[in-house]
Amino acid sequence: MCVAHKGGIVVCRSCGSENRSTFGAEISLVRTGRNILGSNPVYILEKAMVCLECGFLELTIPKPALEALKGTSSQPSDSA
Ligand SMILES: [Zn+2]
Repeated sequence: MCVAHKGGIVVCRSCGSENRSTFGAEISLVRTGRNILGSNPVYILEKAMVCLECGFLELTIPKPALEALKGTSSQPSDSA
């Protein structure tokens, strides 16, 4: 995991602030660009670390969602 440290304290990688907090994040990822037709959004419900100073957000996408994202790259899935 890539984190920034300041004197042993994990800080924001964008602005260096210690004013960060964890939130539940419900995110829908949708591919942008040319191959968006037929690609379904991938939903993620995870904990996210938010910098309360600059708004920088960090989260790790779970493996099943990562696999789903890979599937949206070239082969649009059939929607029922
Ligand atoms: Zn920040």
